[in-house]
Amino acid sequence: MILPSPTTSFEWVGIDGVPGLVCRPLEPFAPHLFTTRHWRLGSRTLESDDTERWNEVAAALEVDERRLVRVRQVHGAEMAIARGGVAIRQDADIIVSDDPAFALAIRVADCVPLLIADRRTGAVAAAHAGWRGLAGRVPAAAVDALARECGSRVEDLVAAAGPSIGACCYEVGPDVREGFTLAGFSRKELDEWFVNAPVPTSRNPSMPGLEAKGRPGRWFFDGWACTRGQLIAAGVRSAQIFLAEICTASHPGALCSYRRDGAPAGRLAGAIKSVRRRP
Ligand SMILES: [Zn+2]
Repeated sequence: MILPSPTTSFEWVGIDGVPGLVCRPLEPFAPHLFTTRHWRLGSRTLESDDTERWNEVAAALEVDERRLVRVRQVHGAEMAIARGGVAIRQDADIIVSDDPAFALAIRVADCVPLLIADRRTGAVAAAHAGWRGLAGRVPAAAVDALARECGSRVEDLVAAAGPSIGACCYEVGPDVREGFTLAGFSRKELDEWFVNAPVPTSRNPSMPGLEAKGRPGRWFFDGWACTRGQLIAAGVRSAQIFLAEICTASHPGALCSYRRDGAPAGRLAGAIKSVRRRP
């Protein structure tokens, strides 16, 4: 099994024989993982229902599937909260909890899976952000939700972004850049997040079929820099932000990509569980 190499803060682990990615600096504060296409959720061809697909993720975090809180993701920046035995609000892209009875999960296939833990209180957040979510400031909204709902102080937050499509592969049209302009991001931020040509690296080769020089009127979007920049702007310490920096589209053997595979693409999960601490 060939797995891509993440940045040094991340490590592959075997969970019942299937690989999952964990962020070592996040681990002491919150059990969590990012899945691969080797999981049931990662394949659309397996004949299993939704509950079965999520059972595997729930088991990995040692909760019952009914205690693995998911939401209907709508590419927005609204929040759901799981607390006191109930999960409130079903349409959302951010889930927060300080209740160890629950684990939280989001699913992606190119979008950024963002997991955050409060190292003081043990509160956690799971967020899903594609370009629309990032233009809608999902990272900052997740930080705000932890502060508002769980009393988190921003200096205590540790954030980990798992695999998502990178600037090696993510060609977008002018509408995407325009979306960030309309949302009020600065020219400096836009120039950092949108580049004219794909940016392949030894870690992340560009997917086949892309023009190395780029194309007129098209951009390559760096969702990793955008996520990091927004977390820093929200007050999260740079040294407490970790990006796996592996591109879903670059690694067909391991990761699910909607851009690469279209509708048959499976999904990757990002999941995290609160551990109650004494504030
Ligand atoms: Zn790529």
